[in-house]
Amino acid sequence: MTDPMELAERVREGELRLHELEEHADPDTATAARRRLLEDETDAGLESIGEYGFPAERADPNVENMIGAAQIPMGIAGPVEINPTGGGAAAGEFHLPIATTEGALIASINRGCSTLNSAGGATARVTKSGMTRAPVFRVEDVAEAAALVEWVRENEGRLAERAETTTSHGELLEVTPYVVGDSVFLRFRYDTKDAMGMNMATIATGEACDLVEEETSASLVALSGNLCTDKKPAAVNAVEGRGRSVTADVTLPRELVEERLHTTPEAMAEINTRKNHVGSAKAGSLGFNAHVANAVAGMFLATGQDAAQVVEGSNAITTAEVREEGLYVSVSIASLEVGTVGGGTKLPTQSEALDVLGLRGGGDPPGANADALAECIAVCALAGELSLLAALGSRHLSSAHADLGR
Ligand code: NAP
Repeated sequence: MTDPMELAERVREGELRLHELEEHADPDTATAARRRLLEDETDAGLESIGEYGFPAERADPNVENMIGAAQIPMGIAGPVEINPTGGGAAAGEFHLPIATTEGALIASINRGCSTLNSAGGATARVTKSGMTRAPVFRVEDVAEAAALVEWVRENEGRLAERAETTTSHGELLEVTPYVVGDSVFLRFRYDTKDAMGMNMATIATGEACDLVEEETSASLVALSGNLCTDKKPAAVNAVEGRGRSVTADVTLPRELVEERLHTTPEAMAEINTRKNHVGSAKAGSLGFNAHVANAVAGMFLATGQDAAQVVEGSNAITTAEVREEGLYVSVSIASLEVGTVGGGTKLPTQSEALDVLGLRGGGDPPGANADALAECIAVCALAGELSLLAALGSRHLSSAHADLGR
């Protein structure tokens, strides 16, 4: 085994480059050598970053120039009863792993979970699914744009056949053309089963684009034309969905709201309207909710999802209405991009967290585990919304943060 000091010295002397160290040493030694170099250059002590609890080679597909790991505390909320009467992908009691640095968050979601359980559990359903990639093509003029749109309509089957040569799980569901002058965007949507699917969809779309260029006069400008839309706030995702579109709901009996949450159905519904709807509309927000991003980010980090896609995951509408039997509350997340295979889900702590949910790896049938994960995250978000609306209703928000978060 090579000594990290020796390896670091070879970098200092210009004999090796920082990203080449794994070619000359095992991944843990290479990682230690980079820390040593960085400590010397910056005067930072990197002991904690170096104290990671898994072999560095397990992270090889996930990171370059590894120096260690950022450790985020993980807690648990629940168990929470999901789909007690069946019908969804998730069924039964789930412990929800949440990685966060925000004190009071898990306590708040936990209160929401116990409220959901007292109401008999939450219902959740994935109502649309599909990962998108939208390449942009250059055409001569609008006549050529229209010809391309026509060609796509007539050749969707062949595009699917070509795209699916790259994957054994992915299926092309549809191709939606959008024309802007001499730019044509083709939004490809795939069923990616248990994978979040961004690599899968990109590779498959690249293959389909070859067919477009072989048979039409259009030229591919970029494999991603930003109408996908990945990792940016976008109305197209709010309207059309991306990844999983998932909704969770519950009806809370009036006594439960009054006794457990110390407020009333009327107060919670009014807060939801004035804050989540009117306030969000006035702010020009795409998220008409209180803090769905908290549940999404916490469960994304715990279970190895792509953290940047919290942007799309916060694209959610919370509704609350007073009914004869109590308070109806729902959370609809339009574009929740999740997987239980691939990406960061294979990392050791992340796959253990998926084990806690019973959702690690491929589902039976394929896609069932990722659907169930989406439903769990939606219920976690619902629990968070209930708890925060209640804290605002009973005017407990600042005292809870003062007690728990500081
Ligand atoms: P991936 O790890 O690239 O691919 C998933 C793999 O799992 C596929 O090779 C698939 O095989 C296999 N698989 C096995 N069982 C499966 C099942 N039950 N359902 C679905 N697939 C199954 O992951 P990905 O989800 O496509 O992409 C996620 C990664 O993309 C993340 O690391 C993310 O950070 C990154 N990302 C990439 C881009 C981009 O533009 N490329 C953008 C954003 C994020 P087959 O395909 O052979 O069937």
